[in-house]
Amino acid sequence: MKTVSYQNMTFEEYLTPEQIDAAVARVAERINHDYHNKKPLFLCVLRGAFIYAADLLRKLTVPTEICFVRLQSYQGMNSTGKIRQLTGLTESVEDRDVVVIEDIVDTGLTMHWLRHHLIENGAHSVAVTCFLYKPDALQYPDALPQYPACEIPTKFVIGYGLDIDEEARNLPAIYTRTQA
Ligand code: IMP
Repeated sequence: MKTVSYQNMTFEEYLTPEQIDAAVARVAERINHDYHNKKPLFLCVLRGAFIYAADLLRKLTVPTEICFVRLQSYQGMNSTGKIRQLTGLTESVEDRDVVVIEDIVDTGLTMHWLRHHLIENGAHSVAVTCFLYKPDALQYPDALPQYPACEIPTKFVIGYGLDIDEEARNLPAIYTRTQA
């Protein structure tokens, strides 16, 4: 079993790079099918989703206009429950079919807030793809992702863009805490 250590904690490999690639390919296939006659605007949520977005976009055959927004609702291993928009949208979302690219949907607060914001700003439709989705943690029904790549139990995970206090985003696999 592959393990890594951050902040005196040990994490073990949970999803391999091969499993990740296959999961991203399945989502790409669905988006290519559903958006084949549309011109979606992909909205990557920084920082965590940048790796998933890069992998996903390279598997898409639909037009791939992309922009970036920075939101934050997490520090360390607990959700702070607050959304702070740090980097605003520069592109207009009016009448656009927006596909939000997120690293992980946990409580759903971030996606609940962002969906509301995009609809308020005139988006024609809003769909969410996330690399990971924790169904048992979801608290906001309207944050249910349309295109989750992988469903996982309510565990803290790192790697593939996901951080622990800004570390570990570069791990090519997903890792989770080992049981003490
Ligand atoms: P939510 O608003 O509760 O759905 O949380 C979404 C954000 O929390 C994500 O974009 C991540 O930045 C962060 N997050 C949630 N779960 C984890 C995790 O297991 N590891 C690292 N970050 C996480």
